[in-house]
Amino acid sequence: MHTDQATAEAPLQQYNKSKLLLKDIFYEETNAEYHQAVEKARTAVTDFLHNTRQPFSGIKPADIQEAVYGVDLDRPLTGYDALLEEVNELYIRHATAFHLPAYIAHLNCPVVIPALAAEVIISAINSSQDTYDQSAGGTFIERRLIDWTANEIGYTNADGVFTGGGSQSNLMGLLLARDHFAVKTLGHHIKEDGLPVQAPRFRIFVSDKAHFSNQKNAWLLGLGEQAIVKVKTDGRFRMDAAALRTAVDKELGQGNIPIAIVATAGTTDFGNIDPLQPIADIAAAYQLWMHVDAAYGCGLLLSNKYRHLLKGIEQADSVTIDYHKSFFQPISSSAFLVKDKSSLQLVKHHADYLNPEDQDYDELPAQINKSITQSTRRFDALKLWCTLRLMGKHKLGVYTDMMIDTAAATAALLHQDPEFDLLSSSDLGVLVFRFRPTGIVTDLSALNLRIKQALFFEGTCIVASTKVDDNFYLKFTILNPVTTVSHIREMLGVIKAKGYSLV
Ligand SMILES: *Cc1c(COP(=O)(O)O)cnc(C)c1O
Repeated sequence: MHTDQATAEAPLQQYNKSKLLLKDIFYEETNAEYHQAVEKARTAVTDFLHNTRQPFSGIKPADIQEAVYGVDLDRPLTGYDALLEEVNELYIRHATAFHLPAYIAHLNCPVVIPALAAEVIISAINSSQDTYDQSAGGTFIERRLIDWTANEIGYTNADGVFTGGGSQSNLMGLLLARDHFAVKTLGHHIKEDGLPVQAPRFRIFVSDKAHFSNQKNAWLLGLGEQAIVKVKTDGRFRMDAAALRTAVDKELGQGNIPIAIVATAGTTDFGNIDPLQPIADIAAAYQLWMHVDAAYGCGLLLSNKYRHLLKGIEQADSVTIDYHKSFFQPISSSAFLVKDKSSLQLVKHHADYLNPEDQDYDELPAQINKSITQSTRRFDALKLWCTLRLMGKHKLGVYTDMMIDTAAATAALLHQDPEFDLLSSSDLGVLVFRFRPTGIVTDLSALNLRIKQALFFEGTCIVASTKVDDNFYLKFTILNPVTTVSHIREMLGVIKAKGYSLV
């Protein structure tokens, strides 16, 4: 060894020896550090449960922005106590508390504890689900859960993959619909050759209450939002099957090319389920791909009492499932399923370094062959696995039933009360309504908007809203089995009191 080289390396070696440099890396020498960090983080979470009495602190954007931008990212903190104190100030203290009944706004479920235990394992071991050499057991746990979900849907020859969310799953549904149509009808392979000349005339039918991801996805797929045909809905805001047939005929009459129908099983705004069987009949008659967006309504798969509402889902060519909406899973946890496993071949891409074409996939399976939007991918499936293994499907189904029953009771309360207009009952747990003060003539849209905003910044009760025919309505999304009718009564009282105070 040359002496001058040894001298140059000395400070680094010294640092190494003291273990200071590597103390933040998760490996066998740093178990104590890891324990300490996780224990303090866990304490921060239990403090959040203990201290949080309302769903939101009410902090204004300017104040939280100032706090976050006031941090000097180039000056690290001294230890975990300081770190967690800062995280608490910047984030936890102002985090929206989905577990409280007074959070009743969007499709955010409370999470189950076995899934939280799984999260500890997932992030530390950090498997990536793309190939077998990065996740052996994980590959098969994911496959087994896809098979389990497929079986619950009623599929017998299915396949699928976990995704980051319902929007991604819907994208996969429309991608397969588009490419399948092009191959089958035009003999054209979009993956290799790009869009065919007929593509601007491709049409996809959704209800006027379908999720906006369909529009974005049509755009991403090169068809443009113009490809989306919105079919009108019935009195409960479900796709009108007769109107669907008329819409398909009309597009055909204009020389356009229908390729797919997206039925929504559980609309975001009303929690109602499109008529799946009649839509399946129309899809079959016109040979259209049928995708069911069950991002929200998938929870019905768990229920003995209400499973019948999904009748016909088994006829869909593909299905979107959001476990993070309706299976009490932490974000992200979602899946895309296809009825015929061979259709997923369309998304296979071979990269020589990851999944070379000459590889035998029965020997070394690779989930990356089924995923279009992610290569490196979290082992989210472990959360659902731990949930099912510890709690079982039946208990989750009872939670689902409890929420539906609470929503039905809430609908009855709103219906009876002359100071509230309720727009529709729900198959699941969403109620769209507005406050109408008795004996006072006022702009109801403006009043209800002010109620919502005031409650949000007071943090007492977080409700959502939507517009129907340009009128502003409040929206409850009941997704928490802990929420009871008496919680709901209390919130309706708060809304009324706020409403009268504002007129
Ligand atoms: C939430 C939702 C989606 C989108 O799912 P993400 O997981 O948020 O991407 C799609 N469809 C419906 C009906 C939804 O409610």
